[in-house]
Amino acid sequence: MNRPPVLLRTLTDLRANTASWHSEGLTVGMIPTMGALHDGHLALVEEARRRVDRVVATIFVNPTQFGPKEDFTAYPRTENSDVAKLATLGVEAVFAPNAAEMYPPGHATTISLAGPALGLETDYRPHFFAGVATVVAKLLLGGFPDIAMFGEKDYQQLLVVRQMVKDLRLPTEIVALPTVREADGLALSSRNAYLSPDERRTAPKLAAALEATAAAIRSGGDVAHHLRQGFNALEAAGFRPDYLELRNAETLAQPAAVADQPLRLLAAAWLGRTRLIDNIAV
Ligand code: AMP
Repeated sequence: MNRPPVLLRTLTDLRANTASWHSEGLTVGMIPTMGALHDGHLALVEEARRRVDRVVATIFVNPTQFGPKEDFTAYPRTENSDVAKLATLGVEAVFAPNAAEMYPPGHATTISLAGPALGLETDYRPHFFAGVATVVAKLLLGGFPDIAMFGEKDYQQLLVVRQMVKDLRLPTEIVALPTVREADGLALSSRNAYLSPDERRTAPKLAAALEATAAAIRSGGDVAHHLRQGFNALEAAGFRPDYLELRNAETLAQPAAVADQPLRLLAAAWLGRTRLIDNIAV
């Protein structure tokens, strides 16, 4: 039996715990999450467990990354079962603050972004990455972990966080893991819980459209045509796509030509009232 994780509610306590580990010469890994943990999150925890001496998972449904009409209130909150799952993996600490701890009354500082934050998600959720970057900066500054784990599932977010850590010279290595999927290809997401049984049957067609479009791009021909076909396939399956785009995998810049650069295909699409995102390497 693992010891249950210590539950930390304040940045002061987070800092005290990680500082005492560091003073003993131990390495620390952090896994930032919004909770409602699934096997994608747990893969990040397990990899951190393999890499460092002490693991702290964070659970915080970050209000500043939700738009006024988005699902902040509906977002699943399952702290007790999340902590139980983390306990079985031997996590030493869970940092689960309330909103006032992360955003004291009168707070007035946010991180402003460009580079990989431009376009894609930002075109549809303009508030999103400033909220993510600001809270991730607070978490990393709260614990100074040696590594922090992020999923490729949120590929643009991963690159935004990498850029921020580099630009602010934060002393944390960002470690990325591949997307964990259901057997039918659907990327695991806390938001999959919103899907009706019918929508759940349709949902894997997002990953399938990405795979088919990536295969078509790899085989050559007109990229714009392949992207249009992929977009049409999503609509035909019952999605309302926000975007299906091919980008440079390292910068997210629009590729002028597909040869000689790593490429990533990224999509966001609505299924009923649920917005799904996914991406794959090309
Ligand atoms: P979230 O709780 O959705 O903010 O996600 C917390 C972290 O888990 C982020 O780094 C996500 O990219 C990662 N994550 C979410 N879903 C998956 C997945 N299916 N596979 C791998 N990582 C994931």
